[in-house]
Amino acid sequence: MQALEISYSKLPEAFYTPIAPTPVKAPRLVIFNHALATSLGLSLPETNLDDLAQFFSGNALPEGSTPIAQAYAGHQFGHFTMLGDGRAHLLGEKVTPDGQRYDIQLKGSGPTPYSRRGDGRAALAPMLREYLISEAMHALGIPTTRSLAVVTTGETVIRDTVRHGAILTRVAASHIRVGTFEYAAAREDTEGLKALADYGITRHYPELSTQDAPYLAFLNAVIERQAKLVASWMHVGFIHGVMNTDNMTISGETIDYGPCAFMDRFAMDTVFSSIDRNGRYAFGNQASIAQWNLACFAKTLLPLLDEDISRATDLADVAIEGYSTVFNDAWISGMRRKLGLFGEEADDLPLMQSLLEWMQKTDADYTITFRDLITKTLPIGETYQSQTFRDWHTRWQARLGRNAKPLKSSFCLMRANNPVIIPRNQYVEDALTAAEQGNLTLFHALLKAVQHPFDETETNTGFRKAPPHSNPNFQTFCGT
Ligand code: AMP
Ligand code: MG
Repeated sequence: MQALEISYSKLPEAFYTPIAPTPVKAPRLVIFNHALATSLGLSLPETNLDDLAQFFSGNALPEGSTPIAQAYAGHQFGHFTMLGDGRAHLLGEKVTPDGQRYDIQLKGSGPTPYSRRGDGRAALAPMLREYLISEAMHALGIPTTRSLAVVTTGETVIRDTVRHGAILTRVAASHIRVGTFEYAAAREDTEGLKALADYGITRHYPELSTQDAPYLAFLNAVIERQAKLVASWMHVGFIHGVMNTDNMTISGETIDYGPCAFMDRFAMDTVFSSIDRNGRYAFGNQASIAQWNLACFAKTLLPLLDEDISRATDLADVAIEGYSTVFNDAWISGMRRKLGLFGEEADDLPLMQSLLEWMQKTDADYTITFRDLITKTLPIGETYQSQTFRDWHTRWQARLGRNAKPLKSSFCLMRANNPVIIPRNQYVEDALTAAEQGNLTLFHALLKAVQHPFDETETNTGFRKAPPHSNPNFQTFCGT
């Protein structure tokens, strides 16, 4: 493996700690993302599984590399805390053949100075869960960190019970978080903050560096990417579950697949995370929580926005208010695609809202309902016979009739924007339970299905159905 760069180390030392992963006893490769490795241009010893396991466990480091753990802070459920990579090591950055720079990070690779009371390790099921769901998100066209490999360590970790230890290799446009900026701001280190902002701009928004007010442009650009990201979650029923500011990137990628889950039945108040007792991060709260997080981000940038604090605050306020417009536009545009609507009409929003209200009242499956609509007649099924649904259907048909394009084009648009496959909780849990017992057959089958979420094939029929025992009380546990 050739040496990796770490441009991040050029930031002031307070932003990271050089530290190597703690070697593990008997690493074994569980899964490896060949396609991703190829697109990154990584030259790995692909033929030798043991060598790969050594590499993805951190036992063998790329030539000349000095791994680091990154410092950051964050608002966790609204409360500010100093954090940092407590169980992750940035091995380095890979510049791809087409010039994109990606972080290659091990997660579960041992303790760091930021571990607090944690053991620095991870268990197999949550790491496979991150692998599966991040790959599903990527296939759905949603910006996300990716997963390159999972290895078991040959060691155990103590969680609810004794579990297999594992390490995930995560690939990200960067790991700079809103919380990284909060970390700099909390240290009242304006020089460091400026260095971080300049680094973030160079790495993710290089076109802004020549603007008159680059930091305000940076704030607006992050707001825009995050607003669009959260809108795209809403379109597929994704619930992040732990939208703390340390789990929000400035690149606009989804990060940190701990207690996340997709909802089966449509309900705005859906919460799966066992630790989210008050529903702060419920499905329907995600848009406003993202805005709250972005306000935290804006606050950190104040010293860079204007020398005069009240002028800086005004600029930040306007930027944060602008979030709602970007989010609403992105959400409505995506819903138009889901409903096959071309052009814009004033009544499009109430049309969407009526359908969602009906879905919520009837416990309709969010994913299946949109696919069922792709038919010239009333969809087949008992629930679609009700007068409420028929009335809605008539309105929608009338709207489709006013499209400038033929029905065929609407159905085409709907097929491309309404997945048949999402990683449903029941199937994910079944696959992970079997994987923990050493049987990866179901995991591989589900992974293959979620990697082609818009294709109706013979092999994915099982995963397209709503699970028979779809449990409204299903709970996810924070990624451990
Ligand atoms: P998360 O909820 O996964 O975003 O993690 C929040 C913070 O807890 C981060 O700083 C993690 O690095 C840290 N953390 C989570 N699990 C562990 C662990 N097992 N050992 C050490 N730190 C951890
Ligand atoms: Mg996190």
